Amino acid sequence: MWSPGQGSGTGIILIPLAVLVFTKQPLVTANTRSLFQQPANTNALATERRGAEGAAASAQGKPGWATSGHNDKTLMVGSFRSGSGSTGCMHHNNRTRRSLTDSGPRQQPRNLAVPGKPAILSSLRDQLVGNPSYRDTILHPLRHLLKNNQQWSQATRREEPEFFLKLSKQQSPEYLWIGCADSRVPANEIVGLLPGELFVHRNVANVVVHTDLNCLSVLQYAVEILKVKHIIVCGHYGCGGVQAALENQQLGLIDNWLRHIQDVREKHHTLVDLFQQKERIDLLCELNVLEQVIHVCQTTIVRDAWRSGQQLSVNGWVYGLRDGLVHDLGISVIHPGEIAEVYHSALTNIAQRDVE
Ligand SMILES: [Zn+2]
Repeated sequence: MWSPGQGSGTGIILIPLAVLVFTKQPLVTANTRSLFQQPANTNALATERRGAEGAAASAQGKPGWATSGHNDKTLMVGSFRSGSGSTGCMHHNNRTRRSLTDSGPRQQPRNLAVPGKPAILSSLRDQLVGNPSYRDTILHPLRHLLKNNQQWSQATRREEPEFFLKLSKQQSPEYLWIGCADSRVPANEIVGLLPGELFVHRNVANVVVHTDLNCLSVLQYAVEILKVKHIIVCGHYGCGGVQAALENQQLGLIDNWLRHIQDVREKHHTLVDLFQQKERIDLLCELNVLEQVIHVCQTTIVRDAWRSGQQLSVNGWVYGLRDGLVHDLGISVIHPGEIAEVYHSALTNIAQRDVE
């Protein structure tokens, strides 16, 4: 971790800076690039902050995300129109963890501890941000995404010339998908639906919290305006959020979010305790989906819809990362009067199957 007044090495930082000034080298040199090496990201400064925080956590022996094997490098933040998912935050942590463990020049700054250094670095970084070649280095990886988009748009229009024109006028999805933000669980692809056919909300570990205005707003829009007929809560085995909750990992702010999953763990501790730690993760993934289905059923939005006679089912599924298959947990509620019965039936099935 970098911090003023810690350790020695003043000369190490001053020499490269002096070289920069007196040789009038371009601002982006090999050394400075390594000092400010950033993975492709929409916010380079935020990434550096995360790296410093990650170093602090590492120094304190705090664990990081343990299971997220996905390696995507771009965070998409978009609207919740059907067909547009959004990827989550776990890969940032992956990147932070990678930056702390990689060998080579990227680790060099960690050994530099100079009084006042953060201010110097900040000043130099501000100059670099305005440098065209530095900006190009940072933003270059995004170009292929834009190129992919052009190719996809052209291919889609070749197949159906009016596709986007029709879609732009109206969306009428029959399904609302509430899933995990994990990049390995792309909602539309999994169930073979096109843009416009699936309304999507995703967050870390597919949690439905009664005070989460984001999720509730999506739910209300889907049920009351779009009149979806089916709501699917879909978790996935090997969920990093569920594992972090199960293992009481201390990751910062997100601990407050994962607390909801720890509540599920404690509610079912008798069942969970029957299993080895490795098996508990997938069991808790299933139990979490079960509880979130009930949360959806308990919202005023769904209850009002049922009360008014609107056709609406709430379902619980789990996706397998290893085989790409969706597993129906047997919890499908179409009326408030059957919530308890369907819940206990599904819970019994999970317990019996997993204990066997
Ligand atoms: Zn997940």
